[in-house]
Amino acid sequence: MDKNIFIGGAWPYANNSLHIGHLAALLPGDILARFFRKNGNKTLYVSGSDCHGTPITVRAEKLGVNPQVIAKHYHNEFTQNFKDLDFSYDMYTNTMTDYHSDYVRQKLVEIDKNKYLYSKTEDEDFCPNCNKFVTDREVVGICPICGAVANGDQCDKCLTALTPSDLKDKKCKKCGQNTVLKPNKHLYFELSKLAPAVQAYFEENKNTWRPTAINETQKYLKEGLRDRAITRSLNWGIELPFDGYDDKRMYVWFDAVLGYFSAGKLVGEQHGFDFENLIRDKNTLSYYVHGKDNIVFHTVILPGLLHSIDEKINKPQMIVSCEYVNMNGEKMSKSKGNLITVNTLLANFDSDSIRYYFILNNPERKDSVFSLDDFVSIHNKHLVGGYGNFVNRNLAFLCKKFEGKLPELNLDAEVKSEVEKTYLEVGKLLEQGETKTAITRLYDYVQFANRYYDQNTPWTLAKEENLDNFWRVTSNCVYMIANMANLYEPFMPKRAKVIKDVLKIDQDTKWEPISYNPDVKLENVSILFERIDINNVDLTKNADDTLKV
Ligand SMILES: [Zn+2]
Ligand SMILES: [Zn+2]
Repeated sequence: MDKNIFIGGAWPYANNSLHIGHLAALLPGDILARFFRKNGNKTLYVSGSDCHGTPITVRAEKLGVNPQVIAKHYHNEFTQNFKDLDFSYDMYTNTMTDYHSDYVRQKLVEIDKNKYLYSKTEDEDFCPNCNKFVTDREVVGICPICGAVANGDQCDKCLTALTPSDLKDKKCKKCGQNTVLKPNKHLYFELSKLAPAVQAYFEENKNTWRPTAINETQKYLKEGLRDRAITRSLNWGIELPFDGYDDKRMYVWFDAVLGYFSAGKLVGEQHGFDFENLIRDKNTLSYYVHGKDNIVFHTVILPGLLHSIDEKINKPQMIVSCEYVNMNGEKMSKSKGNLITVNTLLANFDSDSIRYYFILNNPERKDSVFSLDDFVSIHNKHLVGGYGNFVNRNLAFLCKKFEGKLPELNLDAEVKSEVEKTYLEVGKLLEQGETKTAITRLYDYVQFANRYYDQNTPWTLAKEENLDNFWRVTSNCVYMIANMANLYEPFMPKRAKVIKDVLKIDQDTKWEPISYNPDVKLENVSILFERIDINNVDLTKNADDTLKV
């Protein structure tokens, strides 16, 4: 496959620390990016923090700080988390940059020129005391169903979903003053007009998507596409490029979803390639990697927006969506106190081990369950007992008995063919976005290698007078180690580097069988993976909210 690859990792919302659900949804993006670069494809992998919107302003108001303080704090934390987890973004940015603001404002002007915008004035709740329009979460009133005091979006007592117009005796949540109705002008995106284009796009691309992505999109399309407000009465967000909206900011759905494109364009400027050309090139294949709750933004709204900007821009092709991670069989939530953050994982485990577990146990097609027992047992079985053991028992033996000497290359046909087959099969799975099946297939390879070792018993061959058989078997094992590192590199880059350093293999090897240099003398062979003792794991470590104001 000689295509150009554009990978968009979902933009996490900068209002709380990342947890294992985010991690499971985002990790496949990095595996794909590392694989495609290795495969020789020109690859662009971007993401960033989503920093605008009401949840951040509501929290900022509670804490008495500027929303920027919150967004910046979590953006910095996310950036560090991704670095610690070895994510290889070509750009990890955020929606607060001038570059991004200018980009989305320019796109809005283009959408306006193409006649997909209109303004509409409607009566909305206004607080005369605070002198501002109050949105659903900022207004309280009497629930029409049960008579309790309810918020503008939901009654917490009878759990009915509401809109502010359902409430009686409406008051501003902040100051308690009764609200009045006042006309308010908003800008709308005419998504309804794009329904035929989005439907056609869906029919053309859905075959490669997972069932949930197809179902969610179908459900959304069936309900009929409704026009969406571009503006909000808010002072936190990107200003509009048109007159008459000074008291408004862009709605976060519009600003954030175009982040892939502002980030990609910036990389293009920095590295001297034409991004606008790349996203229109029929030879470019795009992968969008995200969780279930984000699907329709990528399969309906983004395709609609792109179509309204320029029909020739490639719409999202491969939708790599996933379900949820549950905790010991329960839904994870902050209120239940069972949310495991990335900070907690990193305080306890090695990044390769975290990456391995959350790809092997990825909720690709159904919810997965995280439990500490499972994590520890997978680490100890697959990484210590499988991958690590195969590497160490061969290389440490050569160091101990043969002063680190490596054998001449002398491959068995069976080994050569297994290695070739593994590259082909795993490569094909990764092209389809199937990272979980790919890593499962790689463990078959590890088991093949360990079986080969056990059946050929090099430790007894080493005692024979004629060492030819020992060197032949060991050659096959070292060859399989070199390729194990290379095959696992997109998944566990740290250990790949360790093995390549020991064998003095070029770090930039391609996705194809590689050999080793028999003239190299092994030194500094250390244990690849340490066994985890479950008693030393503390899932309360670094679990507190990191925002301190
Ligand atoms: Zn008020
Ligand atoms: Zn109620």
